Amino acid sequence: MMFAWLEFRTMLFMSGLLAVALSILLLTINSRTVMLNGLKEWVYANLLIGGAIITFTQVMVPLDIRTFIGGLLIVSGLALYFISIRIFDQRPIERRYIQSAFLIFIVLKITIAVLSKSEYASVVFNTAICMILTAVIALYLLKYSSQKRSPEYRFTGVFFVIFTGITLWRFYILCADTVSPLAHLTEWTLNEVTFLGCMLSVLAINFGFIAMVNVRLAELLAYSAGHDWLTGVMNRGNLEKGAELLTLKSFKSKQTQAMLLMDLDHFKEVNDTYGHLLGDKVIQTFAQLAKDNMRDIDLLGRYGGEEFCILIPNASEKEALMLAERIRQKYENMPIMLNDQSVNCTVSAGVCDSSQLGSDFKSMFSAADKALYAAKKAGRNKVVLYSSL
Ligand code: GH3
Ligand code: MG
Ligand code: MG
Repeated sequence: MMFAWLEFRTMLFMSGLLAVALSILLLTINSRTVMLNGLKEWVYANLLIGGAIITFTQVMVPLDIRTFIGGLLIVSGLALYFISIRIFDQRPIERRYIQSAFLIFIVLKITIAVLSKSEYASVVFNTAICMILTAVIALYLLKYSSQKRSPEYRFTGVFFVIFTGITLWRFYILCADTVSPLAHLTEWTLNEVTFLGCMLSVLAINFGFIAMVNVRLAELLAYSAGHDWLTGVMNRGNLEKGAELLTLKSFKSKQTQAMLLMDLDHFKEVNDTYGHLLGDKVIQTFAQLAKDNMRDIDLLGRYGGEEFCILIPNASEKEALMLAERIRQKYENMPIMLNDQSVNCTVSAGVCDSSQLGSDFKSMFSAADKALYAAKKAGRNKVVLYSSL
């Protein structure tokens, strides 16, 4: 025996306990946030794999039953890891394909169990399917996932590669030596190495997945600290931070930057007449329209309840006027609907650029605000240039 100084089943049991602890940690994270998906599936996968290891090592249970149930559990567990990672990665899950693949697997498994005289063929089949599944997961994490370059995804991916290596090795030995491996559970190095190797890979994979979850939580936190919840555009603090960087750039490159300050007209009436839900939709629709009409380098922020500011690098007041007019006209002609209610809203805007004021955010904001006030005073649904005041 290879690990004479370590009791094989005790080590399996300890790794199993650790996997349970990590699953509880994942469930705790899952219960505290609604923004992450795929965590529950991961925990189920851990339970299935744990169940498989327990089944394989129950020497009192007949061999064919152990191989059948254990194989079913481990393959389902690995498939569920893959599903969980896809959901976590916000990729679509094709239920039809999964159901068909599972059905084919069950049919093959039953056929092999019925046709073969010993459980040897079943064990080889289980190993082959595990090898394919772990290879697919590794490939997905390292090559096709949304963050394949991040260290956490790579870490998890590499341990799936190791997992694949272990199953490949088991497969190779099994093919070379046609003795039933589970009949000699603790007397055969192959079992010790593969079972412990798999269990330790499962542990490492769990650490990797928790690291992936952590990174995602940190990203979500950073995003929600800088973005408005209703519209998804920058909030005031983030816009001002972005403006500072922009000012620095335009100062170096001596480019003019323009600012557009927009405020929805008679918005309080919309709320009072149609309710806040439609009011929210009016705000969201406006933010989306502004986003659709600006360039990628422009910065859009929600400044107050129904006030938005766009910072436009490398643009003059005239160019900003064109953008403002485009948004104003489109918005005026856009019915906003919720259930059976429909409303048309308008927007007023003030425009300025840094050529007269310098690119300091506060001076530009104050100028655009004056122009916006003039637009409101002139009857609303208008764009006014600061230079025209
Ligand atoms: P004006 O044409 O002069 O801009 O008039 P107004 O009614 O648009 O201006 P006012 O500033 O009086 O009204 C803004 C309203 O926006 C008041 C506030 O209740 C509402 N509001 C602020 N934030 C939200 C929000 O997130 N959702 C909804 N539905 N309403 C909001
Ligand atoms: Mg308003
Ligand atoms: Mg307002």
